[in-house]
Amino acid sequence: MRSIAIVGAGQAGLQVGLGLLQQGCEVTMLSDRTPNQLWNGRVLSSQFMFDQSLETERKLGLNFWEDDCPYTEGIALAIADGQGGKAIDWEARLDRPGQSVDQRVKMPGWMHEFQRMGGDLRFVEAGVAELEELAEANDLVIVASGKGEIGKLFERDEERSEFSAPQRALALTYLHGMAPRPTFTAVAFSIVPGVGEHFTFPALTTTGPCDILVFEGVPGGPMDCWHDVSTPEEHLERSLWIFEEFMPWEAERCRDVRLTDDQGILAGRFPPTIRKPVAQLPSGAHVVGMADAVVLNDPITGQGSNNAAKCADVYYRSILARGNEPFDPEWMQATFEAFWEYVQYVVDWTNTLLKPPEPHLQKLLGAAQERGDLAHRIVNGFDHPPDYHPWWFEEDAAEALLAEEPTGVP
Ligand SMILES: Cc1cc2nc3c(=O)[nH]c(=O)nc-3n(C[C@H](O)[C@H](O)[C@H](O)COP(=O)(O)OP(=O)(O)OC[C@H]3O[C@@H](n4cnc5c(N)ncnc54)[C@H](O)[C@@H]3O)c2cc1C
Repeated sequence: MRSIAIVGAGQAGLQVGLGLLQQGCEVTMLSDRTPNQLWNGRVLSSQFMFDQSLETERKLGLNFWEDDCPYTEGIALAIADGQGGKAIDWEARLDRPGQSVDQRVKMPGWMHEFQRMGGDLRFVEAGVAELEELAEANDLVIVASGKGEIGKLFERDEERSEFSAPQRALALTYLHGMAPRPTFTAVAFSIVPGVGEHFTFPALTTTGPCDILVFEGVPGGPMDCWHDVSTPEEHLERSLWIFEEFMPWEAERCRDVRLTDDQGILAGRFPPTIRKPVAQLPSGAHVVGMADAVVLNDPITGQGSNNAAKCADVYYRSILARGNEPFDPEWMQATFEAFWEYVQYVVDWTNTLLKPPEPHLQKLLGAAQERGDLAHRIVNGFDHPPDYHPWWFEEDAAEALLAEEPTGVP
């Protein structure tokens, strides 16, 4: 029986930990927050997940909230024309729907399941001393600490990190009472060139079904506007001000809204960062990083929880495939590279949306308004971003795609 220690009880740590418990491994998990603190604390994310990621949870029987959480059926895109209207406006359906279960609901539920299955869950903020103890007592230590400080143990990978400063001022607002979209439920993106982006979709929170607003303001611009907000009421007011000012079509849906709860708000920023996946402790022992701890993206494409679930799946399979062989640094590096094979495309695609759009991208997004097959392809790429390669990134490939005969929408 292998003994595995995991630091961080988030999407990645809990998913891989629960999977390993199911396979008979001995699993110890360190969390700096209790289920109660999580349930009653600030929202952490908008955590929208697409079907392939949800499937990794379903495979382990962890989709406890599937029947209670609203399904989101598609994606819509509006690009503002600068005069209160839309220059581009289209929508397409996902082949299979996505869902967002508030991490304040999901992580406490998964923690209880972890304990029920015999996992050793300890409430402590891990530092190097705790990592040393875990390394001494276990076959493998995984650091799944998200944006936690302990992740700095892993050296920043200069070659793979495109940015060194935050690229957006981020904010979340959880609402009850938002009017539904007229056609189908969707992640509704709005882009205001030079100012920022916004997306909204249905979710399940501690008080039932809700809608989540995600704001991405260009630093120093008018949507970078949260520094003087000090109360939940002011946060809601500022959210609605952004709509009135820049995206009046979303203001229309918010005539009768209220916050889900006083903790249903968040504002902050961080630099997207890729780190080297293996770190050596002072004793000489090695630990491996996973998900956000080593591949931290801006949330503009809503991929972090999806990455965490897919990373959990890759690590889970790699641990089981190792049999009784040691989890040495070579195995750690190879396991991460198997994840990187996939996630590098997510990183590259996400980063294109943080920079002013290349002309071929503007052309693609505009053409999707006339071509349902292209809109369908762009929308379904969110479920598997490697599908954007090469046409999202390269002008010639984009032109070749645009020259193809339109096909019917599946
Ligand atoms: C504003 C915003 C919106 C987002 N929207 C989306 C979205 O719509 N879709 C999507 O896919 N992703 C989204 N994300 C990203 C997503 O939330 C994360 O990528 C995902 O939660 C990462 O999972 P993780 O397990 O790696 O880390 P986390 O979920 O951050 O979990 C790490 C856990 O480790 C704990 N921890 C940290 N340090 C220690 C320590 N020293 N000792 C013990 N415990 C520790 C933390 O408290 C936390 O519980 C969003 C993020 C933000 C900020």
